[in-house]
Amino acid sequence: MTNKMLMQEDLKYIFHPCTQMKDHEKIPLIPIKRGKGAYIYDFDGHKYLDCISSWWVNLFGHSNDYINLKIRGQIEELEHVIFAGFTHKPAIDLAKRLVSITPKALTKIFFADNGSSAIEIALKMSFQYFKNRGESRPLFVSLENSYHGETLGALAVSDTGLYKDIYTDILLKTIQAKSPALVDENDALNDMRNLLKKHKGKIASVVIEPLVQCAGSMKMYNPSYITKLRTICDEEGVFLIADEIAVGFGRTGSMFACEQAGISPDFLCLSKGITGGYMPLSCVLFTQDIYDAFYCDYNEGKSFLDSHSYTGNTLACAVANAVLDIFENDNIIEKNREKIDLIRDLTKPLEKLSNVKEVRQRGMICAIELQGYDAKERIGLKFFQEALKEGIYIRPLGNIIYFMPPYVITDKEIRKMVGVVEELLHVV
Ligand SMILES: *Cc1c(COP(=O)(O)O)cnc(C)c1O
Repeated sequence: MTNKMLMQEDLKYIFHPCTQMKDHEKIPLIPIKRGKGAYIYDFDGHKYLDCISSWWVNLFGHSNDYINLKIRGQIEELEHVIFAGFTHKPAIDLAKRLVSITPKALTKIFFADNGSSAIEIALKMSFQYFKNRGESRPLFVSLENSYHGETLGALAVSDTGLYKDIYTDILLKTIQAKSPALVDENDALNDMRNLLKKHKGKIASVVIEPLVQCAGSMKMYNPSYITKLRTICDEEGVFLIADEIAVGFGRTGSMFACEQAGISPDFLCLSKGITGGYMPLSCVLFTQDIYDAFYCDYNEGKSFLDSHSYTGNTLACAVANAVLDIFENDNIIEKNREKIDLIRDLTKPLEKLSNVKEVRQRGMICAIELQGYDAKERIGLKFFQEALKEGIYIRPLGNIIYFMPPYVITDKEIRKMVGVVEELLHVV
């Protein structure tokens, strides 16, 4: 088997995500045969350093020995079981552990199987919380430039036009407040306060991506916004949903981004890194008060009847437990600090280049914003193709080159990753 043979077979049948398939007339699709550590290997014998953690999901490398061991152990026992009326040990262990490491007001958990579904659940639950008390609050507030997923509810609270605009006619009505990543923090807070006051009694929840709007060009903001937003949400009596699907599990330097703001959200959505990039799994953590709002006799009609076939998948929960083991046993958050500093030392000086507008970083997420290129040039694509020739896999968002590597990346690999991009910045 060669790359070419597999690509031809693939293109006969498969429509890929977030892809204009016609691009593959010119840009080869890359069949990956295996992965190990921070590298993926294709069928022609090339290896690529996975600098974006395979869409932000991988934490401890591909085909990680410890996770492999745990998944093998679990598969011999139980692969999956219906999660209504039944339960299993990996889910119980995981629930207990997540409750213990997330902000303290979060004491209950609801499982699902992908990030967008976690958002849908938080939106539905926040709406139904009020409904169960006889109030109808049909509105949700999110931030400008936000991204919360692709299902219709998640898309409705997103503000990335590229993915959303086409569907405007069929989306829920939502409100976007100014983003602290784009305007001054106080302006953003004032805008939020005004919107909540203007629509008082109609808004169920505010949903944010704490610290980094990842899909929104890796735009970043300070924890102080979240701290103050918590107070505003309390004053206005609306829920705060923290979408840590991308930033959770150490990406921003702390285990969860909300820690840096010293707050507990009412809902916390987790996915992506939760299984270290192995399996689809997501969950929503929330407060006792929210749990209680659904707790009643069945015939009262206040139950939360949301479900997904693979909710709380046993293998995925076992993998997530293995991921938490690694965080604990290997002191990952602490160890990442040196890598974070190294990435900063290597990338910050690139700001001096005339084609670099800004270098920004939050923990293990680092973005290099380019300037001076024509939008039609698809400059990010050019960087992707050129870097790939050097064995570096990046996937720029428009004119934003970013690094979000797995935590197993070594210092030497970090130097190579940044070095290749630095070279290209001089020639592309
Ligand atoms: C990826 C992502 C989602 C959606 O998760 P999926 O598993 O892709 O559905 C939601 N919110 C944020 C912040 C994300 O990065």
